[in-house]
Amino acid sequence: MPAPNSRDTTLKKSSVSPLFFILGSIIVIIAALLYISWQGTASARLHDFAHMLMGTEVTLRLHSDNRREAEQAGQAAFEEMARVEALLSRTVDDSDVERVNRRAGSGPVTVSPETVTVLRAALEYAQLSGGAFDPTVAPLLDLWGFPGGDKRVPEPAEIETLLPLVDFNLVELDEQSGTVFLPAAGISIDLGAIAKGYNVDRGLAVLSAAGVKHAFLNAGGDIGLLGTRPDGSPWRIGIGHPREPGQVIGVLPLSGDIAVVTSGDYERFFEEGGRSYHHILDPSTGYPSRLLAGVTIVAPTAMEADALSTAVFVLGPARGMELVEDLPGVEAVLITPELKVTVSSGLKDIFEPVR
Ligand code: FAD
Ligand code: MG
Repeated sequence: MPAPNSRDTTLKKSSVSPLFFILGSIIVIIAALLYISWQGTASARLHDFAHMLMGTEVTLRLHSDNRREAEQAGQAAFEEMARVEALLSRTVDDSDVERVNRRAGSGPVTVSPETVTVLRAALEYAQLSGGAFDPTVAPLLDLWGFPGGDKRVPEPAEIETLLPLVDFNLVELDEQSGTVFLPAAGISIDLGAIAKGYNVDRGLAVLSAAGVKHAFLNAGGDIGLLGTRPDGSPWRIGIGHPREPGQVIGVLPLSGDIAVVTSGDYERFFEEGGRSYHHILDPSTGYPSRLLAGVTIVAPTAMEADALSTAVFVLGPARGMELVEDLPGVEAVLITPELKVTVSSGLKDIFEPVR
């Protein structure tokens, strides 16, 4: 009914709309300028650091308003990671792992509580994966020349001789006394498939304690995240293409305190007789595992993700994905040598394939 009022309103609207339009435009422009300047400031507050540790380049990007605080936090994180490397590397003289290996067949060695923690986790993942992940694979690695030795394809008889020494059940870990004993000469342990992840967790813990809220720490494919990107958007993790160096096969947008770890056959390998041989060995055969070309694991901690990336790599696509789907909070992207990509249930909606 109210025609007059309606007309009034219409008249009023048409008389003020240019003003609204101008005011609205000004607000939009100011908001855009503020957003651009905030973005600029946010990226100006990103600080990048890099160091060689554990035989690989470790890169760190963190967000802080204060350059000095950022540098202090970054330095503290790298110092922590260097400390852990000195404890767990098997090539550093007098590290816990080097001492345990040196005393194989002679007697138990007292190690630090941290070494107990990482070794216990390694033995648990060995059990969980039915020995696909096995820290006693070290004698075989030495035979093949991984990671830093003279690389060659061994004779089958050489591998056969060493296989009885590769069995995680042989490791005598006494958590009460904090000792480790390898009961026969020739047995040795290598934590290369789990300690890098543990070290990323340590680096992030130090950053977090320093008040850092946004960080991206990458130790040669073992990535740990703190929070989101500074603008609130997820970090975008590229998954490397196993056969096209420098290209990505997919992207995972992820945020939160979470780890993303990749194991592949394309980073550390050598070629002989026209065939390539990489560093992830199947402990049951003594040869590089060839069921997968790349495994990316998403998990709450980098230690967990690291151990599982190696375990799943050796288990292959079927048994590997079965294990992943059984573990709460763990997700995976698997790439076969034929470049078939399989994504676990929890990543299906967010994985962005490239091409
Ligand atoms: P992952 O799949 O996570 O691990 C593969 C590595 O685990 C192999 O290189 C081997 O060491 C071991 N492995 C292979 N098969 C199995 C298996 N079935 N089960 C369990 N483990 C297996 N590299 C150097 O070249 N120089 C160094 O000085 C050096 N120092 C290091 C110190 C520490 C504390 C650590 C943790 C690693 C160090 N490395 C060093 C090793 C190097 O960085 C490795 O290449 C890396 O740890 C392997 O990680 P990845 O992510 O490539 O593969
Ligand atoms: Mg690993």
